[in-house]
Amino acid sequence: MSARKDYGEPIREMICISCPIGCHLQLFKDENEELVVKGNRCPRGKEYAQEEYYAPKRVVTATAATADPDAPRLPVRTDKPLPKEHINDLISEVYALEVKLPVDRGAVLIENYRDTGVNLVSSLTLGK
Ligand code: SF4
Repeated sequence: MSARKDYGEPIREMICISCPIGCHLQLFKDENEELVVKGNRCPRGKEYAQEEYYAPKRVVTATAATADPDAPRLPVRTDKPLPKEHINDLISEVYALEVKLPVDRGAVLIENYRDTGVNLVSSLTLGK
């Protein structure tokens, strides 16, 4: 049986949200500065922790103004998680939008935001 390595205090802790179990993950750095993940019950937890640590992303939801006073706000969201560093700028652009109605659920309002491959889409069919 091999001795269990002691990495000291974790550098981060997080809950894996890849499935409903919600494993409590602890992140350490080894002597080569490689990320070590503990607490995951399956390999998806390690992938989740690595992405969350090195390149966190989030699905963005917001509302955009429309040109129709009877339905002045349209719920919108990104169709995929967006790298976190772009989120504030995207929200500023959403608040500057004025969407012409009618619009279908899933209609692309901003395409391939900053070459991330992420689109901003309508969350609702509105104005029909
Ligand atoms: S590590 Fe695996 S089992 Fe644990 S929450 Fe993540 S996906 Fe689920």
